[in-house]
Amino acid sequence: MKPLIGVSSCLLGNLVRYDGRLKAEPRLREIFCDNVEWLPICPEVELGLSTPREKIILLYDLDHPSLQTLETQIDLTQQMQSWIDTKIRQLQKLPLKGFIFKSKSPSCGIQNVEFFSSRGAEPQRIGTGLFAKAFIETFPHLPYLQESDLDDPALVKSFLAQVQS
Ligand code: SF4
Repeated sequence: MKPLIGVSSCLLGNLVRYDGRLKAEPRLREIFCDNVEWLPICPEVELGLSTPREKIILLYDLDHPSLQTLETQIDLTQQMQSWIDTKIRQLQKLPLKGFIFKSKSPSCGIQNVEFFSSRGAEPQRIGTGLFAKAFIETFPHLPYLQESDLDDPALVKSFLAQVQS
């Protein structure tokens, strides 16, 4: 049986990005070929947001950030947290072996996500996406990579070994 790997849906080339552009990550096919079963997840689209959509950002409190639309300042934090709670419960019932996250996303990014200490402040690349954070906290023993890690052969090798064990 192929290992089941969660993946930020946009990395597979699905039309889910906020800017409406397709941005498949070709290294996924090069590295994994047909040897894994993908479980694509897009927190923002599964939340009910459209594609394209207004950009969303992390604000105010680094440990418990607020998730808001950039221009219209709609607070999506509670809505996203509720979706995350439900999604995590679903994932706990699946034989998931690992996850590959899109970099720099306020939902999926593991690190270096733009964080705004206030509206109008210069962003700092110190945030973590809300779904990625919840996933890592819930599944501390599952291996994961972020998109940018695909450039690192050692990290990829280690990930492959873990998901195939
Ligand atoms: S980074 Fe995450 S939330 Fe953003 S489009 Fe990709 S899957 Fe969706």
